[in-house]
Amino acid sequence: MKPDEVLQFIKENNIEIIDLKFNDLPGLWQHFSMPAEELTEMDDLMDSIFVEGVGFDGSSIRGFQKINESDMILIPDPNTAVLDPVCQVPTLSMICDIFDPMTKKPYTRDPRYVAKKAEDYLKKSGIADTSYYGPEAEFFILDDVRFAQNQHYGYYFIDSNEGAWNTGREENPNLGYKPRYKEGYFPVPPHDSLQDLRSEIVLTMKKAGIKVEVHHHEVATGGQAEIDMKFDSLVNMGDKLMMYKYIVKNVCRKHNKVATFMPKPLFGDNGSGMHTHISLWKDGVNLFYDPKGYALLSQTALYFIGGLLRHAPALMAFCAPTTNSYKRLVPGYEAPVNLVYSQRNRSAAIRIPMYSPSPKSKRIEFRPPDPSCNAYLAFAAMLMAGLDGIENRIDPGQPLDKDIYELPPEEAREIPQVPGSLEESINALEKDHAFLLKGDVFTPDVIETWIDYKREKEIDEVRTRPHPYEFYLYFDI
Ligand code: GLN
Ligand code: MG
Ligand code: MG
Ligand code: MG
Repeated sequence: MKPDEVLQFIKENNIEIIDLKFNDLPGLWQHFSMPAEELTEMDDLMDSIFVEGVGFDGSSIRGFQKINESDMILIPDPNTAVLDPVCQVPTLSMICDIFDPMTKKPYTRDPRYVAKKAEDYLKKSGIADTSYYGPEAEFFILDDVRFAQNQHYGYYFIDSNEGAWNTGREENPNLGYKPRYKEGYFPVPPHDSLQDLRSEIVLTMKKAGIKVEVHHHEVATGGQAEIDMKFDSLVNMGDKLMMYKYIVKNVCRKHNKVATFMPKPLFGDNGSGMHTHISLWKDGVNLFYDPKGYALLSQTALYFIGGLLRHAPALMAFCAPTTNSYKRLVPGYEAPVNLVYSQRNRSAAIRIPMYSPSPKSKRIEFRPPDPSCNAYLAFAAMLMAGLDGIENRIDPGQPLDKDIYELPPEEAREIPQVPGSLEESINALEKDHAFLLKGDVFTPDVIETWIDYKREKEIDEVRTRPHPYEFYLYFDI
């Protein structure tokens, strides 16, 4: 939509409120609202929020400005205008870009700006004009989040929606038909108790202009779900993923449930990943397809894979960016642990889906990401790593199609592994980030702020807290 079309839309839909949304650095949507008259009573749209923007205090936003330079400006992107699918009052939702009021320049720590610069970099490189992303964001739908007795340790036990066998939840009456352990993928109702809820989420997404391809129960028994959107370009998919999470959380809340995108909420069961399908296109042609290549992949795709694998440890600082992410990335739960590619192995970091031989559907699936990431930064980082692979012709080596669990130990030991902790990934990012700085896509300020934020606010905060399991191990020592 153009600004005057937004105005028209407001009138036609009797919109009362305009809601402005933007991302903080870790990746949570922030917002504030204004009466629709702020736009409808403007004599000249050139004086409106589309040009002048609206001020807010950046010092209270995680990862943003210091207190002495806190004034910031939001300018809504009219292309994102949509009737907010969650609000009761007729509300127009728009996603905003962030600007510095003094310089009038885009704010370097605005994640959406980083994503925009990554798209520009791709075009300028001449390698491709478009990159597509298909994230499979998984999540849990739970009945409640029940706090353990000792709240000082910030520990909580999560109650399962389905009263799954392995969570030990008491249910009265017990209605049976629990999905068996790791058998949530995917028997029909009544085992699948979330069918209508997922359908309602999907219909709400449709109202917000999001095209969904499939929804289903996932493997974990505690009410794990997956909804897959049709692929889209980088910034668009960043926007859509924010709306996706917003709708999932709010529709679940409406039904007195709680949804979490935390990567590993339940010990001993599958975690939630966000496998991301990627392809590069030029003049309407998929550059990843070659009928003669391994798994129908082109040399360009292989170099892209080479870049992803070479930079994977640093990349994970954006793609699996929480301390909890690394509790998911362990053997035995369909999460990747090996930094290899394969058309078969689900423990490989990169899988080449073989569902269809058509050139249009050729893509790679990068499996380490999880839905705790800031999608704008994660997609931009993946693109920059892959492009670095193409620019430097990084050979990804041989695919690993053998069953990794069956390999002799000396061979298995040779296979590089994903980092074991957020600390390792952040250290890797500190050493390896030149590929992100190309074209000023990620600026040194963003990298430094990310590293400091993750160390101070997350890694240290988790490390210095006694863990509940330490009481089990050591209390009686
Ligand atoms: N939940 C698994 C993960 O953490 C993925 C399961 C699947 O989609 N096959 O990556
Ligand atoms: Mg899937
Ligand atoms: Mg899945
Ligand atoms: Mg997948």
